[in-house]
Amino acid sequence: MPRRGVFTLGQHYPCLGASKRRAAHIYSDNLDKECPLVTPEPFSHGLRIDSSHPCIQPWATDNNGPVATTSTDSPGPSRGDSSADPSGGSRGHAAVDRRSPPGGAASFIDRERLLADIDELLRIPSLGGTPAEVDAQRHLADRWAGEGLEVTTWDIDVDATAARSDFPGMEVERESALGVVARFPGSGGGRTLLFDGHTDVVPPGDIGAWTGDPFIPRTVQRDGRDAIVARGACDMKAGLVAAWEALRAVRQSGVRLRGDVLLCPVSGEEDGGLGTYAALEHLLGTPIAGCIVPEPTDLDLVPANAGALTFRLTVNGAAIHASRRSEGVSAVEKFVPVLAALSHLEAVRNASVDELMQRWPVAYPLSIGTVHAGDWASTVPDLLVAEGRLGVALDESADNARAELEAAVADVCRSDPWLREHPVTVEWWGGQFHAGRTDPNAGIVSLVRDTHTRAAGHAPETYGGPYGSDLRLLVGMGGIPTVQYGPGDTRVAHAPDEYVNIEDVVMCASVLADVIVDFCS
Ligand SMILES: [Zn+2]
Repeated sequence: MPRRGVFTLGQHYPCLGASKRRAAHIYSDNLDKECPLVTPEPFSHGLRIDSSHPCIQPWATDNNGPVATTSTDSPGPSRGDSSADPSGGSRGHAAVDRRSPPGGAASFIDRERLLADIDELLRIPSLGGTPAEVDAQRHLADRWAGEGLEVTTWDIDVDATAARSDFPGMEVERESALGVVARFPGSGGGRTLLFDGHTDVVPPGDIGAWTGDPFIPRTVQRDGRDAIVARGACDMKAGLVAAWEALRAVRQSGVRLRGDVLLCPVSGEEDGGLGTYAALEHLLGTPIAGCIVPEPTDLDLVPANAGALTFRLTVNGAAIHASRRSEGVSAVEKFVPVLAALSHLEAVRNASVDELMQRWPVAYPLSIGTVHAGDWASTVPDLLVAEGRLGVALDESADNARAELEAAVADVCRSDPWLREHPVTVEWWGGQFHAGRTDPNAGIVSLVRDTHTRAAGHAPETYGGPYGSDLRLLVGMGGIPTVQYGPGDTRVAHAPDEYVNIEDVVMCASVLADVIVDFCS
């Protein structure tokens, strides 16, 4: 365990091996080296942080332990003999969630077990492209096999998969990836329900903005409620474990399902969708009647996603000593009208948007994320490379969105003598998320809506997400009616001190348990 005062990132991760050291190293590469909080030299195996630095709050005694599993709810009576527990649940007895209908599968949700398993998964620093990404997948496969589910794993041939013409893209280097599908078979004749959730997480960013190690989950108060803070808590390990707990509750309740339930954790969602793409290939021929993706929706219903296309612009200039500036051509200055044209294009593309998207100030953002230019302060820069993402409207093809951006850039180039001769190039690389949608009144969406309304006492909102996600693969490539429904707010996803409210996680698990019973019986 970390020593008080100084800890080493990754040290909390049990049996730290070579793969984890590499994960910790990649993690350190994303830190703000300016922050004196972080000493640049690796300490033993990873990164050393001085927790006495004012950027870090004093450690509470429970900061390095599992997230709190206590609750103001008193535990309910044990539901049956735990030795006959089909989920292998010796980790705790069933606790009744009082907001759920008595006697339903939801009453078997075991809060303690749920939180312990979220804690365990959050401690694996499964950054996209690191070996820990595979570890997270293997961890779930092992746990589920141990609980008696039919688990299939396979090594995804990353290079061969990425070479396919319809491959959705990948933005990090990846040597390996593990496919996992766990099946709880029904007795036959029922509908199969799939839960798809990603286990990869994005880097923590500036470590100085966190109040502790992003991979040591801890419980804090947010808006007067207990919340778990850790990278991936909101997006979306808590939601994935909630689906797992929902299935355990159903098994424990003894309800007999006719349809199968499939749990499919995936890698590579954050940078394109490798995992779900590979899983859909693997599941080809399996009739799947509905899918729930427990991404953070704040327990609202998101049956549609905009798309997102990553692009790169290259602007050429002509270098010269800055003292003779007017005789050269600055790539930065040539980028200015391009940027203005892209802003105009964004406004045009958002002038009228689908009803499901009207809650967003900008439904389909066109955003420049990186700009690199020049290599010397007193040289006129001869090269500028800008990367960004273009939102794709619901029902719009990715090809159409690409063509609109390329046309806007070409228009600018035609109006400038230099750019006419040296046109800006546009490349499409990395994640290419198409838009996708399921009818907001499709069976699976209505069922989750009705079940949530019963459990929570109010109806969830229904809208489209402005982000790209695996939903478009499940709907498009898989032809599966899919809805996102999960705990956590996307406002804090990918942010420092990302968190998820514990009661929302428990509510999600309860609703999903009842949904499983209704859908698969
Ligand atoms: Zn996510």
